[in-house]
Amino acid sequence: MKERLLGKTPEELKAIAVEVGLPAFAGKQIAQWLYQKRVRSIQDMTNLSRQGREALAKKYEVGMIEPTDVQTSADGTRKYLFPVNTGKEEFCVEAVMIPDGDRKTLCVSSQAGCKMGCKFCMTGRQGFHGNLSPADILSQFFAIEEAADLTNAVFMGMGEPLDNWDNVKRVIEILTEPWGLAWSPKRITLSTIGVLPSLKKYLEESKCHLAVSLHNPFPQERGELMPVEKAWPVTEVVRLIKQYDFTGQRRVSFEYTVFEGWNHSARHAAALKKLLYGLECRVNLIRFHKIPDFPFGPASADKMEAFRDKLNSEGLTATIRASRGEDIFAACGLLAGKHNKL
Ligand code: SF4
Repeated sequence: MKERLLGKTPEELKAIAVEVGLPAFAGKQIAQWLYQKRVRSIQDMTNLSRQGREALAKKYEVGMIEPTDVQTSADGTRKYLFPVNTGKEEFCVEAVMIPDGDRKTLCVSSQAGCKMGCKFCMTGRQGFHGNLSPADILSQFFAIEEAADLTNAVFMGMGEPLDNWDNVKRVIEILTEPWGLAWSPKRITLSTIGVLPSLKKYLEESKCHLAVSLHNPFPQERGELMPVEKAWPVTEVVRLIKQYDFTGQRRVSFEYTVFEGWNHSARHAAALKKLLYGLECRVNLIRFHKIPDFPFGPASADKMEAFRDKLNSEGLTATIRASRGEDIFAACGLLAGKHNKL
Protein backbone atom coordinates (compact mmCIF):
# COMPACT_ATOMS: atom_id res chain seq x y z
CA MET A 1 0.00 0.00 0.00
CA LYS A 2 1.29 3.47 -0.87
CA GLU A 3 1.88 6.09 1.80
CA ARG A 4 -0.41 9.14 1.69
CA LEU A 5 1.07 12.62 1.24
CA LEU A 6 -2.05 14.45 2.45
CA GLY A 7 -1.55 15.37 6.09
CA LYS A 8 2.23 15.85 5.91
CA THR A 9 4.00 19.10 6.77
CA PRO A 10 6.37 20.90 4.34
CA GLU A 11 9.30 19.62 6.46
CA GLU A 12 8.15 16.02 6.11
CA LEU A 13 7.49 16.56 2.39
CA LYS A 14 10.99 17.98 1.98
CA ALA A 15 12.47 14.76 3.40
CA ILE A 16 10.27 12.71 1.03
CA ALA A 17 11.30 14.86 -1.95
CA VAL A 18 14.98 14.28 -1.19
CA GLU A 19 14.36 10.57 -0.64
CA VAL A 20 12.93 10.15 -4.17
CA GLY A 21 15.61 12.29 -5.82
CA LEU A 22 13.73 15.60 -6.10
CA PRO A 23 15.37 18.87 -4.95
CA ALA A 24 14.67 19.79 -1.31
CA PHE A 25 12.58 22.84 -2.33
CA ALA A 26 10.08 20.46 -3.98
CA GLY A 27 8.74 19.81 -0.45
CA LYS A 28 7.22 23.30 -0.43
CA GLN A 29 5.87 22.84 -3.94
CA ILE A 30 4.20 19.56 -2.99
CA ALA A 31 2.63 21.26 0.06
CA GLN A 32 1.19 23.92 -2.27
CA TRP A 33 -0.25 21.28 -4.57
CA LEU A 34 -1.81 19.48 -1.62
CA TYR A 35 -3.19 22.34 0.45
CA GLN A 36 -3.67 25.27 -1.89
CA LYS A 37 -4.37 23.69 -5.27
CA ARG A 38 -5.72 20.48 -3.71
CA VAL A 39 -4.83 18.09 -6.51
CA ARG A 40 -5.97 14.49 -6.40
CA SER A 41 -3.00 12.98 -8.19
CA ILE A 42 0.80 13.30 -8.12
CA GLN A 43 0.67 13.52 -11.92
CA ASP A 44 -1.14 16.88 -11.56
CA MET A 45 1.87 18.41 -9.71
CA THR A 46 3.08 19.86 -12.98
CA ASN A 47 5.97 21.98 -11.71
CA LEU A 48 7.78 18.82 -10.59
CA SER A 49 9.81 17.07 -13.29
CA ARG A 50 8.07 14.13 -14.97
CA GLN A 51 10.81 11.84 -13.72
CA GLY A 52 10.43 13.21 -10.19
CA ARG A 53 6.66 12.69 -10.25
CA GLU A 54 7.14 9.12 -11.40
CA ALA A 55 9.67 8.43 -8.64
CA LEU A 56 7.33 9.97 -6.08
CA ALA A 57 4.30 8.00 -7.32
CA LYS A 58 6.15 4.67 -6.93
CA LYS A 59 5.89 4.87 -3.17
CA TYR A 60 3.39 7.65 -2.44
CA GLU A 61 -0.08 8.85 -3.38
CA VAL A 62 -2.07 12.00 -2.57
CA GLY A 63 -4.51 9.87 -0.59
CA MET A 64 -7.70 11.90 -0.81
CA ILE A 65 -10.88 9.90 -0.34
CA GLU A 66 -14.08 10.83 -2.16
CA PRO A 67 -17.61 10.79 -0.71
CA THR A 68 -19.78 7.90 -1.85
CA ASP A 69 -23.12 9.40 -0.89
CA VAL A 70 -24.57 12.85 -0.22
CA GLN A 71 -27.98 13.91 1.03
CA THR A 72 -29.31 17.45 0.86
CA SER A 73 -31.81 18.77 3.38
CA ALA A 74 -34.62 21.19 2.54
CA ASP A 75 -32.69 23.81 4.60
CA GLY A 76 -29.51 23.33 2.50
CA THR A 77 -27.61 21.20 5.04
CA ARG A 78 -25.66 18.47 3.25
CA LYS A 79 -24.44 15.17 4.67
CA TYR A 80 -21.55 13.47 2.93
CA LEU A 81 -20.58 9.87 3.53
CA PHE A 82 -16.89 8.90 3.31
CA PRO A 83 -15.57 5.33 3.24
CA VAL A 84 -12.45 5.09 5.41
CA ASN A 85 -10.09 2.17 5.65
CA THR A 86 -9.31 1.46 9.28
CA GLY A 87 -6.83 -1.34 8.54
CA LYS A 88 -9.10 -4.31 9.10
CA GLU A 89 -12.26 -3.12 7.39
CA GLU A 90 -13.93 -0.33 5.50
CA PHE A 91 -16.18 1.90 7.58
CA CYS A 92 -18.27 4.93 6.65
CA VAL A 93 -18.05 8.28 8.44
CA GLU A 94 -20.05 11.47 7.94
CA ALA A 95 -19.17 15.09 7.26
CA VAL A 96 -22.00 17.61 7.41
CA MET A 97 -21.95 21.00 5.68
CA ILE A 98 -24.26 23.51 7.37
CA PRO A 99 -24.97 26.76 5.48
CA ASP A 100 -26.04 29.77 7.54
CA GLY A 101 -26.13 33.16 5.79
CA ASP A 102 -22.57 33.91 4.68
CA ARG A 103 -21.18 31.01 6.69
CA LYS A 104 -20.62 27.46 5.59
CA THR A 105 -19.61 25.32 8.54
CA LEU A 106 -18.27 21.79 8.17
CA CYS A 107 -18.94 19.32 10.96
CA VAL A 108 -16.13 16.75 10.66
CA SER A 109 -15.64 13.23 11.99
CA SER A 110 -12.41 12.30 13.76
CA GLN A 111 -12.86 8.58 14.42
CA ALA A 112 -14.57 5.57 12.83
CA GLY A 113 -17.17 4.94 15.53
CA CYS A 114 -16.31 5.87 19.11
CA LYS A 115 -15.13 4.27 22.36
CA MET A 116 -16.98 6.57 24.71
CA GLY A 117 -20.35 4.79 24.63
CA CYS A 118 -22.67 7.73 25.38
CA LYS A 119 -26.08 6.10 25.56
CA PHE A 120 -27.92 8.77 23.53
CA CYS A 121 -25.53 8.57 20.57
CA MET A 122 -25.81 6.38 17.47
CA THR A 123 -22.06 6.62 16.85
CA GLY A 124 -21.38 5.33 20.36
CA ARG A 125 -23.56 2.31 19.62
CA GLN A 126 -21.45 1.41 16.60
CA GLY A 127 -18.41 0.80 18.82
CA PHE A 128 -14.86 1.83 17.97
CA HIS A 129 -13.37 0.88 14.61
CA GLY A 130 -10.24 3.04 14.50
CA ASN A 131 -8.82 6.53 14.43
CA LEU A 132 -9.10 8.60 11.26
CA SER A 133 -5.77 9.65 9.78
CA PRO A 134 -5.05 13.30 8.97
CA ALA A 135 -5.68 12.42 5.28
CA ASP A 136 -9.10 10.95 6.15
CA ILE A 137 -10.06 14.09 8.08
CA LEU A 138 -8.68 16.52 5.48
CA SER A 139 -10.54 14.70 2.70
CA GLN A 140 -13.79 15.73 4.39
CA PHE A 141 -12.71 19.36 3.84
CA PHE A 142 -11.28 18.99 0.35
CA ALA A 143 -13.49 16.46 -1.46
CA ILE A 144 -16.89 18.08 -0.96
CA GLU A 145 -18.63 20.41 -3.39
CA GLU A 146 -18.37 23.39 -1.01
CA ALA A 147 -14.63 22.87 -0.37
CA ALA A 148 -13.62 26.32 -1.60
CA ASP A 149 -16.37 28.16 0.31
CA LEU A 150 -16.05 26.70 3.81
CA THR A 151 -15.77 29.39 6.47
CA ASN A 152 -15.78 27.37 9.72
CA ALA A 153 -15.17 23.90 11.07
CA VAL A 154 -16.46 22.06 14.09
CA PHE A 155 -14.98 18.78 15.29
CA MET A 156 -18.39 17.50 16.32
CA GLY A 157 -19.00 14.61 13.94
CA MET A 158 -18.37 10.94 14.67
CA GLY A 159 -15.82 10.13 17.33
CA GLU A 160 -14.17 11.91 20.25
CA PRO A 161 -11.53 14.23 18.74
CA LEU A 162 -9.45 14.32 21.93
CA ASP A 163 -9.19 10.52 21.81
CA ASN A 164 -7.33 11.04 18.49
CA TRP A 165 -5.51 14.22 19.46
CA ASP A 166 -2.27 13.70 17.53
CA ASN A 167 -4.08 13.38 14.19
CA VAL A 168 -6.61 16.13 14.97
CA LYS A 169 -3.77 18.40 16.06
CA ARG A 170 -2.04 17.83 12.73
CA VAL A 171 -5.25 18.72 10.85
CA ILE A 172 -5.65 21.92 12.91
CA GLU A 173 -2.02 22.77 12.09
CA ILE A 174 -2.72 22.36 8.37
CA LEU A 175 -5.93 24.40 8.60
CA THR A 176 -4.23 27.29 10.42
CA GLU A 177 -0.60 27.48 9.19
CA PRO A 178 0.26 29.96 6.40
CA TRP A 179 1.55 27.07 4.24
CA GLY A 180 -1.78 25.28 4.75
CA LEU A 181 -5.20 26.91 4.59
CA ALA A 182 -4.16 29.89 6.77
CA TRP A 183 -7.46 29.91 8.67
CA SER A 184 -7.72 31.86 11.90
CA PRO A 185 -8.10 29.48 14.90
CA LYS A 186 -11.29 31.41 15.65
CA ARG A 187 -12.91 29.61 12.74
CA ILE A 188 -12.47 26.22 14.44
CA THR A 189 -14.30 24.67 17.40
CA LEU A 190 -13.48 21.30 18.93
CA SER A 191 -16.20 19.51 20.85
CA THR A 192 -15.29 16.98 23.55
CA ILE A 193 -16.92 15.05 26.34
CA GLY A 194 -13.86 15.95 28.43
CA VAL A 195 -10.91 13.60 27.88
CA LEU A 196 -8.83 15.30 30.56
CA PRO A 197 -5.23 14.43 29.58
CA SER A 198 -5.60 15.57 25.98
CA LEU A 199 -7.96 18.42 26.91
CA LYS A 200 -5.02 19.97 28.75
CA LYS A 201 -2.87 19.54 25.64
CA TYR A 202 -5.61 21.05 23.46
CA LEU A 203 -5.89 24.09 25.72
CA GLU A 204 -2.12 24.57 25.69
CA GLU A 205 -1.30 23.65 22.11
CA SER A 206 -4.13 25.32 20.17
CA LYS A 207 -6.01 28.60 20.21
CA CYS A 208 -9.28 27.21 18.79
CA HIS A 209 -12.63 27.42 20.54
CA LEU A 210 -13.82 24.68 22.87
CA ALA A 211 -17.24 23.06 23.29
CA VAL A 212 -17.85 20.59 26.11
CA SER A 213 -20.66 18.02 26.07
CA LEU A 214 -22.15 18.50 29.51
CA HIS A 215 -25.83 17.43 29.40
CA ASN A 216 -26.20 17.18 33.19
CA PRO A 217 -24.38 18.95 36.07
CA PHE A 218 -24.94 16.08 38.56
CA PRO A 219 -22.14 13.46 38.38
CA GLN A 220 -24.37 10.51 39.20
CA GLU A 221 -27.05 11.46 36.66
CA ARG A 222 -24.51 12.35 33.97
CA GLY A 223 -22.77 9.02 34.56
CA GLU A 224 -26.02 7.18 33.77
CA LEU A 225 -25.81 8.29 30.14
CA MET A 226 -22.10 9.08 29.81
CA PRO A 227 -19.69 6.41 31.11
CA VAL A 228 -16.82 8.94 30.72
CA GLU A 229 -18.05 10.64 33.90
CA LYS A 230 -16.36 7.89 35.94
CA ALA A 231 -12.93 8.34 34.36
CA TRP A 232 -12.96 12.12 33.95
CA PRO A 233 -15.66 13.79 36.08
CA VAL A 234 -17.10 16.96 34.61
CA THR A 235 -16.24 18.88 37.79
CA GLU A 236 -12.55 18.15 37.06
CA VAL A 237 -13.04 19.16 33.43
CA VAL A 238 -14.57 22.50 34.41
CA ARG A 239 -11.87 23.03 37.05
CA LEU A 240 -9.21 22.61 34.35
CA ILE A 241 -11.02 24.92 31.91
CA LYS A 242 -11.25 27.63 34.56
CA GLN A 243 -7.45 27.82 34.58
CA TYR A 244 -7.47 29.22 31.01
CA ASP A 245 -8.52 32.60 29.67
CA PHE A 246 -11.84 32.74 27.82
CA THR A 247 -12.48 36.43 28.22
CA GLY A 248 -10.85 37.38 24.89
CA GLN A 249 -10.97 35.86 21.41
CA ARG A 250 -11.14 32.27 22.55
CA ARG A 251 -14.56 30.95 23.55
CA VAL A 252 -15.85 28.02 25.57
CA SER A 253 -19.40 26.70 25.37
CA PHE A 254 -21.25 23.82 26.99
CA GLU A 255 -23.48 21.58 24.93
CA TYR A 256 -26.62 20.58 26.77
CA THR A 257 -29.06 18.22 25.06
CA VAL A 258 -32.43 18.54 26.75
CA PHE A 259 -34.14 15.21 27.44
CA GLU A 260 -37.78 15.24 28.49
CA GLY A 261 -38.08 15.00 32.27
CA TRP A 262 -34.37 14.27 32.85
CA ASN A 263 -32.21 17.39 32.98
CA HIS A 264 -34.23 20.62 32.77
CA SER A 265 -35.54 21.25 36.29
CA ALA A 266 -34.85 24.25 38.56
CA ARG A 267 -32.49 21.95 40.45
CA HIS A 268 -30.44 21.43 37.29
CA ALA A 269 -30.39 25.17 36.55
CA ALA A 270 -29.08 25.94 40.05
CA ALA A 271 -26.40 23.24 39.81
CA LEU A 272 -25.29 24.54 36.40
CA LYS A 273 -24.96 28.04 37.79
CA LYS A 274 -22.79 26.71 40.61
CA LEU A 275 -20.66 24.52 38.33
CA LEU A 276 -19.96 27.26 35.77
CA TYR A 277 -19.60 30.09 38.28
CA GLY A 278 -16.92 32.60 37.29
CA LEU A 279 -16.44 31.20 33.77
CA GLU A 280 -17.16 33.37 30.73
CA CYS A 281 -19.14 30.86 28.67
CA ARG A 282 -22.33 30.00 26.84
CA VAL A 283 -24.71 27.10 27.38
CA ASN A 284 -26.12 25.75 24.10
CA LEU A 285 -29.39 23.90 24.58
CA ILE A 286 -29.81 21.24 21.92
CA ARG A 287 -32.97 19.50 20.84
CA PHE A 288 -32.64 15.74 21.04
CA HIS A 289 -33.42 13.63 17.97
CA LYS A 290 -35.08 10.47 19.16
CA ILE A 291 -33.16 7.25 18.55
CA PRO A 292 -34.40 3.64 18.83
CA ASP A 293 -34.28 1.82 22.19
CA PHE A 294 -33.49 4.89 24.28
CA PRO A 295 -35.78 5.73 27.23
CA PHE A 296 -35.81 9.53 26.91
CA GLY A 297 -37.44 11.66 24.24
CA PRO A 298 -36.85 15.30 23.30
CA ALA A 299 -38.18 18.01 25.63
CA SER A 300 -40.91 20.14 24.06
CA ALA A 301 -40.09 23.59 22.64
CA ASP A 302 -41.95 25.19 25.58
CA LYS A 303 -39.90 23.31 28.15
CA MET A 304 -36.65 24.14 26.39
CA GLU A 305 -37.56 27.83 26.31
CA ALA A 306 -38.53 27.75 29.99
CA PHE A 307 -35.18 26.14 30.87
CA ARG A 308 -33.27 28.65 28.75
CA ASP A 309 -35.09 31.52 30.50
CA LYS A 310 -34.38 29.99 33.90
CA LEU A 311 -30.66 29.71 33.10
CA ASN A 312 -30.56 33.28 31.83
CA SER A 313 -32.32 34.50 34.97
CA GLU A 314 -29.62 32.68 36.99
CA GLY A 315 -27.03 34.86 35.23
CA LEU A 316 -25.80 32.30 32.68
CA THR A 317 -25.87 32.92 28.92
CA ALA A 318 -28.05 30.23 27.39
CA THR A 319 -29.38 29.85 23.87
CA ILE A 320 -31.32 27.19 21.99
CA ARG A 321 -29.44 25.91 19.00
CA ALA A 322 -31.48 25.74 15.81
CA SER A 323 -31.86 22.19 14.54
CA ARG A 324 -30.57 21.68 11.04
CA GLY A 325 -31.03 18.97 8.45
CA GLU A 326 -33.84 17.26 10.36
CA ASP A 327 -35.17 15.62 7.21
CA ILE A 328 -31.87 13.84 6.38
CA PHE A 329 -31.08 11.76 9.45
CA ALA A 330 -30.07 14.64 11.66
CA ALA A 331 -28.81 12.65 14.65
CA CYS A 332 -25.06 12.10 14.65
CA GLY A 333 -24.08 8.76 13.16
CA LEU A 334 -27.46 7.82 11.72
CA LEU A 335 -26.56 8.06 8.04
CA ALA A 336 -23.26 6.26 8.51
CA GLY A 337 -24.93 3.74 10.81
CA LYS A 338 -27.35 2.87 8.02
CA HIS A 339 -24.48 2.24 5.62
CA ASN A 340 -22.38 0.34 8.17
CA LYS A 341 -25.39 -1.86 8.88
CA LEU A 342 -24.82 -1.63 12.63
FE1 SF4 B 1 -18.56 9.36 21.13
FE2 SF4 B 1 -19.46 11.90 21.03
FE3 SF4 B 1 -21.12 9.85 20.57
FE4 SF4 B 1 -20.21 10.23 23.05
S1 SF4 B 1 -21.53 11.63 21.88
S2 SF4 B 1 -20.32 8.25 21.97
S3 SF4 B 1 -18.14 10.97 22.60
S4 SF4 B 1 -19.36 10.44 19.32
